[in-house]
Amino acid sequence: MFIKSFRLKDLITICGVALLGLALGIGVLLLAAHAAGGAGGGASRAESAAESAAESSAESAVESSAESPSDSSSEAPAEGSLPAEGQKTVYLTYDDGPSAMTAEILDVLKEKEVPATFFVIGATTDRGKALYQRILDEGHAIGLHTYSHRYQQIYESADAFLEDYQKLSDHLADVAGVEPDICRFPGGSVNNIADPAILKEIKAELSDEGIVWFDWNALAKDDGASATPAEEMFENILESAGDSEELVILMHDDALRSTAAECTAMLIDHYRELGYTFGKLTAETPCVQFPDR
Ligand SMILES: [Zn+2]
Repeated sequence: MFIKSFRLKDLITICGVALLGLALGIGVLLLAAHAAGGAGGGASRAESAAESAAESSAESAVESSAESPSDSSSEAPAEGSLPAEGQKTVYLTYDDGPSAMTAEILDVLKEKEVPATFFVIGATTDRGKALYQRILDEGHAIGLHTYSHRYQQIYESADAFLEDYQKLSDHLADVAGVEPDICRFPGGSVNNIADPAILKEIKAELSDEGIVWFDWNALAKDDGASATPAEEMFENILESAGDSEELVILMHDDALRSTAAECTAMLIDHYRELGYTFGKLTAETPCVQFPDR
């Protein structure tokens, strides 16, 4: 009996060792399979990051694209594409151009090899039209900011806004061959000028057309009567940004704002140091939008 039970114990031990060996073998195989499938894993991580970010945004009216980025390697995404999970991203945005400052801003972006987004208005001069083209040629995004940018006029009614918007859209298609699907409301998508009901109507129309609007979550406060010193703009941006990992920074591209290029260089150096990458906005970028009142 004793011998019999000893043998049984022995058998159990042998079986245990064999099972452990089998489990280890399966583990090694699973690890190898995971390593081989790394590229696909990277893509799905990027997708879920985009989806969760879109869901958590204040207004996720726009569905996040289910398509994976074209570069689906497990490396960090190229600047300008959708950010991967955990990738801290800065979107530099400039409103109201093109202007006498645009070329200087573009020079800094070119030197630092950083993409940005320009929310433009209607430019009729040859210089202005050439600047639309230069913005595009150098790999940046153009978004619409209305043709006239006249608050009283555009916010009089939804039709007034959309007519002005369409005028700029046609103008850009005509002179720069581009039809942007991103925009920014003058004053932001929630502002003190427009009737909330009119804003709601405009947003519904834009959404129907597949147009995405962006507000901001960090700003330079550079809209005073004269140019704000670059250092002050920089501090204002850092203060309003907090520790957000997806920053849509508002600055102005305006002849009066002569410090925008200098501030741009400071921002790029600072956020690069902190491990941020730089992107340009697209209709697929997780939205930064103010919640409706
Ligand atoms: Zn503006």
